[in-house]
Amino acid sequence: SDFPLYASAKVVHGFGRGSKQMGIPTANLNPEELPKEILDLPKGVYFGWVQVKGEGLDAGVQKMVMNVGNRPTFADSDAVTIEVHILHDYKIDFYGQDVGIAVLGFIRPEMKFSSLDALVERIGDDIKAATLYLEEEVLKSYQTDRFFRM
Ligand code: ADP
Ligand code: MG
Repeated sequence: SDFPLYASAKVVHGFGRGSKQMGIPTANLNPEELPKEILDLPKGVYFGWVQVKGEGLDAGVQKMVMNVGNRPTFADSDAVTIEVHILHDYKIDFYGQDVGIAVLGFIRPEMKFSSLDALVERIGDDIKAATLYLEEEVLKSYQTDRFFRM
């Protein structure tokens, strides 16, 4: 794929499998609003910039890691979930709000983990990688991309 990939979509409810309890909430994006280039991405973890739009919300452009994965309940279909963990401490939930994303690169393919601890540890590494990439001048410049000012 060619990056950046841009998209806007509303935040929908996921399965509430406890990402928030693990300290890594993921804003699930409505797949019906997402372009094919994002839905067709190889399953795995990506990184980029994100902006949550809405009344009373912190509208800053923040770092994010994005997971492209299968919907377990619909394993027989091609349906995917696109979830974004934002590296920012929002004080409130923002279900139903619009978010804009600029996806800038790929971190790793989808993997199976032997335990929840192993998964959480790996996500920590993904976050470190995303943070380092996004501090690089060229990728940092997308934080002020025109896309986020429309
Ligand atoms: P769900 O299964 O409904 O997606 P999660 O446990 O993944 O539940 O929590 C996701 C929700 O948490 C998001 O939809 C959003 O409203 C809220 N949230 C708060 N802070 C963040 C954050 N930093 N990144 C992503 N979502 C966040
Ligand atoms: Mg989620």
